[in-house]
Amino acid sequence: MSVEGIVKADTADRLVNGSAAGESGNGRLLEIRDLDVSFELARGAARALRGIDLDLHAAEIHGLVGESGSGKTVTSTCIMGLLPVPPARINRGRILYRGTDLLELSEPDRRRTRGREISIVFQEPAKYLNPSLKIGEQITEMLGLHMGMERNRAMERAGELLELVGLPNSRRILSGYPHELSGGMKQRMMIAMAISCDPSMLIADEPTTALDVTLQLQILNLILKLREQFSMGVLFISHDLAVVHEVSDRVSVIYAGKIVESAARDRLFNEPLHPYTQLLLLSIPDAQKRGQRLKTIPGRVPDAEHTPAGCAFHPRCPLAEDICAREIPPTTEHAAGHTAACHMIGKKWISS
Ligand code: SF4
Repeated sequence: MSVEGIVKADTADRLVNGSAAGESGNGRLLEIRDLDVSFELARGAARALRGIDLDLHAAEIHGLVGESGSGKTVTSTCIMGLLPVPPARINRGRILYRGTDLLELSEPDRRRTRGREISIVFQEPAKYLNPSLKIGEQITEMLGLHMGMERNRAMERAGELLELVGLPNSRRILSGYPHELSGGMKQRMMIAMAISCDPSMLIADEPTTALDVTLQLQILNLILKLREQFSMGVLFISHDLAVVHEVSDRVSVIYAGKIVESAARDRLFNEPLHPYTQLLLLSIPDAQKRGQRLKTIPGRVPDAEHTPAGCAFHPRCPLAEDICAREIPPTTEHAAGHTAACHMIGKKWISS
């Protein structure tokens, strides 16, 4: 085996066997650097991610917010190694998990990392549960595969997990099928499966979008509780800024495959710098202003095949000037940990 092969095998082993405990030397659990992804379609290339940077620390909840088609789910599937390549193509970039580039791992090593180190909860649990397999079988399968647990112990652990996510009467649930559960119960079950192998990182991809408000709150509280209990780093993906505000420590705003602003939660909500973030904040419904028309952002996110030149937001931006259509604004840090990509920062503010 070459030296490079040995290094890769060693880092994979450290990840897979969990000996790479804690964060990487610089305190980060996940570091995405300049990740650029496109899809090769018959009619041309579609740029889905245009060089994004994103960090996640242990026990931190990092909210990634943006409209549909902005690149949120491409980001999560890329981290999980579930992007279909081709037609997807990773043009450049790194996804460092505890200092090891996930993009360099072999497929078997990626598979072992999924669920064991990094887990994901999707928006529509029903799609990802096997309707013909009893719930107990679905959870114990994960435990057997990743943790090497024998059946009785795995079934016992599955019961503990269901109790942990607020599904009492676990014995009855384990012997039933997914269709016997309500939407909220299915999402709890997905979360139980996601945390079953004690991952260090959880990706929650629109986990509450299909739920009503009461269930939404319950699931958000559950995610907060699990982060507290297990010190998991959580990448919380949503189109809903109000939901992101409820749970996140840090928030990044993504638009047309590029992170346009990132800051600690309170700073981003109180002192947004980017016009897109400002407009998103103005579009959050306010219970105090009942009867008033909601503000909307004109136009829509460009599709990945037709991203405008310069700043991709310029056709919708009320502050756009000539330079915006010509030059991509660089991402700059305007205060400690507060970055934004806009040519006009500090020049004008959008009034409410
Ligand atoms: Fe608007 Fe120009 Fe800033 Fe883009 S760079 S957000 S178009 S002001």
